[in-house]
Amino acid sequence: MEPVQPIAALQDNYIWMLSRGSHAVVVDPGDAGPVIRCLQQERLHLAGILITHHHLDHRGGIPELCARYRPRVYGPHAENIPGITHPLASGDTAQFPELDLTCEVLAVPGHTRGHLAYLGWEHLFCGDTLFSAGCGRIFEGTPAEMKDSLGRLAELPETTEVCCAHEYTEDNLRFALMVEPANPILQKWAEEVTLLRARGRPSLPSTIALEKAMNPFLRSSEPSVVEAVCRRRGSAGDPLSVFTALRKWKDTF
Ligand code: ZN
Ligand code: FE
Repeated sequence: MEPVQPIAALQDNYIWMLSRGSHAVVVDPGDAGPVIRCLQQERLHLAGILITHHHLDHRGGIPELCARYRPRVYGPHAENIPGITHPLASGDTAQFPELDLTCEVLAVPGHTRGHLAYLGWEHLFCGDTLFSAGCGRIFEGTPAEMKDSLGRLAELPETTEVCCAHEYTEDNLRFALMVEPANPILQKWAEEVTLLRARGRPSLPSTIALEKAMNPFLRSSEPSVVEAVCRRRGSAGDPLSVFTALRKWKDTF
């Protein structure tokens, strides 16, 4: 089995599983069923759970997984999530000696106020903050917070693999292609994703390099993106107004 793999759950969620030897850690188990099936199939014990934010599709499986495996449960200290045993804040680490895994904790407010992302084994688990070719909706934070959170993720090493919590890539790409129809990297990624999805394969993980090259929400300073926003609204303004306009445009598209 791959050391990091997505488990499809609920409508379009991915629960990411990290494993080594006989132990596993899962990120955002919105549902326990598919996680239990995977653990049983691979004969793994669940050592830990990482939670990015309080939405039910990211934490609904906690009670059942805890009853069965008694894992340590890590999540944002700033959000009210029943079952968390190890509250975390930015700069903390989550240690899993069973897997020889250390995860760095990054605060990425915007989708929710306390949203965290985790970095381990050169994979980024970013919940509902960064999606391939898109970003999360801004429910609790401000556009400035979301832009800042995404900007910090974009500064991670380019080879970092991006493990998002939803399969939203095809929908995001339709929007991204409206913004930057002439971006060749975007066009190529859209073709690849169409093929992957037609075969029932996940479009993820992506990489930071790829996201920087084609995700409009990481590109609000690029002339082509500024121009697209300008064409739509008559004016563009600073990168934050461009980002805010992009997010609004995507919300209604
Ligand atoms: Zn969410
Ligand atoms: Fe979600």
